Amino acid sequence: MALEFFNTLSRRAEVFTPLDLEGRTVRMYTCGPTVYNHAHIGNFRAYLFEDLLQRHLEARGYHVLRVMNLTDVDDKTIRDSRKAGRPLADFTQVYKQAFFEDIATLRIRPALHYPAATEDRYIQRMIQMIAQLENQGAAYKAEDGSVYFRLSHFPRYGQLAHLNLEDLRPSGRIRNDEYEKESVGDFALWKAWDENDGDVAWDSPWGRGRPGWHIECSAMATELLGPELDIHCGGVDNIFPHHEAEIAQSECCTGRTFVRYWLHCAHLMVDGQKMSKSLGNFYTLRDLTGRGYTGREVRYALITVNYRLPCNFTLAGLDAARTALARLDQWTARLTEYAGNTAPEPTPLSAASDRFLDLLDDDLNISAALGCLFDLVRDSNKAMDSGALSRGQAASLLQAWTRINQVLAFEPYAQEIPAEIAALVEQRAKARASKDWALSDQLRDKIHALGWSLKDTKDGQKLMPAQ
Ligand SMILES: [Zn+2]
Repeated sequence: MALEFFNTLSRRAEVFTPLDLEGRTVRMYTCGPTVYNHAHIGNFRAYLFEDLLQRHLEARGYHVLRVMNLTDVDDKTIRDSRKAGRPLADFTQVYKQAFFEDIATLRIRPALHYPAATEDRYIQRMIQMIAQLENQGAAYKAEDGSVYFRLSHFPRYGQLAHLNLEDLRPSGRIRNDEYEKESVGDFALWKAWDENDGDVAWDSPWGRGRPGWHIECSAMATELLGPELDIHCGGVDNIFPHHEAEIAQSECCTGRTFVRYWLHCAHLMVDGQKMSKSLGNFYTLRDLTGRGYTGREVRYALITVNYRLPCNFTLAGLDAARTALARLDQWTARLTEYAGNTAPEPTPLSAASDRFLDLLDDDLNISAALGCLFDLVRDSNKAMDSGALSRGQAASLLQAWTRINQVLAFEPYAQEIPAEIAALVEQRAKARASKDWALSDQLRDKIHALGWSLKDTKDGQKLMPAQ
């Protein structure tokens, strides 16, 4: 089948055709973190879905230009930096850094650009867009000194969230960045300085103030990717008002269709409930790695439910992710050993990598794609057990796995061999160099007892997860 995505705008699956069909370039914008604390696993579920999307597009031969913004000025960053008694830029820097560390831990492929809202280039672009909106009559300066978007100027407002504005009672002006559907109203583009802002302010034609959250994304997206994007992603929480506002601002400024495909990731639940600090079920990535789970285990647990379905995260689910990954590790270790240095030779089993990608073409149906992968693991293990698989066929299956793993990024990194094991392997190498065979055997047994097997080959010791 053709590559299809469910488009929030049309509420149906649509065949994906990027604007630049010939060059196969995909312009993709993903709303990034608000850097006022550590991102939680609900945020990471959305970022992992976007990573899966990017990797699958790349597997299909597209060149993905992805931008992810960093919201480093808004109501929350200002509030919390003041609470912490630190300048805004210093305060947000800590969480920007933490964010980059976390996405590396989760093996999320970096975006091409991470624009931060406070960079001068983007502040200037925001001011320019707001001035343009004002000139067109789509924005006005109110008596409180702030500039608001005039909803009546954009009758399509509500189309993404499928809201009928006439059924909603417009409630005047909304200065806060986040509000409910019931309080739909003219939203702030530029917020006049008030004392809660402390020293956070920029000069503008409307006086000192700061941008609203929504205009930040419109400005950074169009500045870096041009007036028309192929894909825009976020969590379902972003649909209203944030993405709705992005459409209104951008389309009024450019006169073009802002985004062709809107993809939104469903909520993450924890233990069957909405994640919240008060329920004690709130996890950052660091909470989980602090409990001994690895980034790839968290990646597995958060990526394996289809993105449009709610995902219920549990620690038991993380243990299941560990078991599933161990199964894959053992399988690839076994195939590697079985294949030796033999040249690949075709086998019908390796068609699984085509099937895997075909299943992802169906709006990233990852659960079906993983089902296909684990069928391959079972069938090829059986074929190795009975000797029905040739060494060359095992080599061909390893190639199929490489293709699949480019999308999943589940394979252990070399450095993920636990430090304790690596130290034992090194000690054993020294023992062997000094011909202390008794110590060498003792160390091998110890390594084996810790779940790793060791073989002595002409190239030295070869470590792999125990079968
Ligand atoms: Zn955004």
